[in-house]
Amino acid sequence: MTDLLNVDLTRGTVTRQALNAELEMLGGHGLSSAIVTREVDPAADPLGPGNVLVFAAGLFAGTSVPNGGRLSVGAKSPLTGGIKEANAGGSAARKMATLGLRGVKVSGQAEALSVLEVDAGGGRLVPAADLKGLGSFETVRRLRERYGDGAAIICAGPAGEMQLKSAAILVTTPDFYLRAAARGGLGAVMGSKNLKAVVINGSGGPGVTIADPAALKAAAAALSKGILSHPAMAALEALGSAFLVNVTQSMGCLSTRNYSAGQFEGWQDISGEHMVELMSARPNAHAQHRCMAGCIVNCSQVYTDVAGNEITSGLEFETLGLLGANCGISDLDQIAHIDRLCDDLGLDTMEIGAAVGVAMEGGLLPWGDGAAVHALLSKTTTGDAHATMIASGCCATGAALGVARIPAVKGQGMAAYDPRVLKGTGTTYATTPQGADHTCGNALPSPANPGYDPGSPDGQAQISEFLQAYFAAIDALGMCLFATLPALDMPELQGHFVAAAAAITGKDLPEDYLVSMGRQIVMEERDFNRRAGFTAADDRLPSFMLTEALPPSGNRYDVPEADLDAMFTG
Ligand code: SF4
Repeated sequence: MTDLLNVDLTRGTVTRQALNAELEMLGGHGLSSAIVTREVDPAADPLGPGNVLVFAAGLFAGTSVPNGGRLSVGAKSPLTGGIKEANAGGSAARKMATLGLRGVKVSGQAEALSVLEVDAGGGRLVPAADLKGLGSFETVRRLRERYGDGAAIICAGPAGEMQLKSAAILVTTPDFYLRAAARGGLGAVMGSKNLKAVVINGSGGPGVTIADPAALKAAAAALSKGILSHPAMAALEALGSAFLVNVTQSMGCLSTRNYSAGQFEGWQDISGEHMVELMSARPNAHAQHRCMAGCIVNCSQVYTDVAGNEITSGLEFETLGLLGANCGISDLDQIAHIDRLCDDLGLDTMEIGAAVGVAMEGGLLPWGDGAAVHALLSKTTTGDAHATMIASGCCATGAALGVARIPAVKGQGMAAYDPRVLKGTGTTYATTPQGADHTCGNALPSPANPGYDPGSPDGQAQISEFLQAYFAAIDALGMCLFATLPALDMPELQGHFVAAAAAITGKDLPEDYLVSMGRQIVMEERDFNRRAGFTAADDRLPSFMLTEALPPSGNRYDVPEADLDAMFTG
């Protein structure tokens, strides 16, 4: 059973229907983008009733495929003005799949703040005035108390209710920590719809229909074995994604002080090694944690203070890079507290880190002053002008403060990898329809591919084009990106992904299923953006990255514009 729950907030109706033949093979990113490209007018106001917000489980959700339960969220982005998909771990996608649902489509706008209840009986809207303005943690605490430990909760924080363009959507893990579908301001879309939360109870559902259980079991076992055999998985489990602080520092591409350098003198203090060392001496801290059932990598963690009080879970590389090195902040506890505050407000730590870096360059805050950042962000709900500016993103911050060096593409701040060293990743930043988004195609060097030179201008467009298609497909399956990196080094694993999809759906899928599906997704998104008014001029990195040499490598971004313009045209 692959159904879609249609929620019309304007009418107050919730109906369930089978996905049509065109959509039934799609999940996650594929499903959310297919609905948005077909149903949203590209000229629509992202914060108006014409936008559609889609929560979509991947094709693998609720099955035995390892790391296959991420939730995609899609809409037209208020931050970029283009199409957006952001995804998160947590338990929502698995519970949705258990109910026989592939997705929840939310259209219109509710008159009053509402919660959507989803369970085996269908779905219904209930008033949520009591949750108005509440932080994410208190929202989740109350909803958990009301609906019990079996519920998965998706919610907007106060920043979403305020329709601030860096607002994220939070999703609970099985043990009720928070994960974010962070990018593109989708929390503001949720807020604009007056939807405070979605609560999913999977009990009593029909479960996921598997066409060939034996074939799925074999593919899942082969994937587990292959994923765990890759050396990067051990680093991820030991140090979390924070192991990348050391890697990017070594490569000279760690975003530092608003992308003015590729190495940070305080890198050791924000490294995964230091984080694990601190946690080993702190009560209640966990250096290994999984954000969703079925994860075999456990890259997450629970970070506590010296007294054992939880500060945040998890503390990821992008947050450390952007709120740390990019702002000159080397105090891990300060970064963790800012991370917690962002989660509570419902803000994207990456966009906030990029915006704070711009604000520091503009002289609003001193470099390295984490306490000042925390104090400023704490004023977000008061309507403070500077806090509102930061929460509106790095482009709004740069425009307000007259800062020319803004590390953004299509209105969205970059990830913590400087594109002058990682030019394949930079090419993805420039050309993906999603704005500067590393998860759309991060071209990291690998010992398994010694011939790849990330600093060369040659061939990056072809690599980025392949990766954009590959990662769109991975997001459509609902796979965690980390667990799919091994398949880039061990292409035979890609065959097991295809075999698993075939076993679930009962369809005979071609060998190039992943890349052809991903390419179709990206092509439709590019067309949506074109109809929204984007041109080739929007597929460019900010000019300072073309002219300013990055210390210490001295690199500039010099991939030819003709290469960028030729992408996805063949
Ligand atoms: S590897 Fe990390 S991000 Fe991926 S599912 Fe596991 S805990 Fe979550």
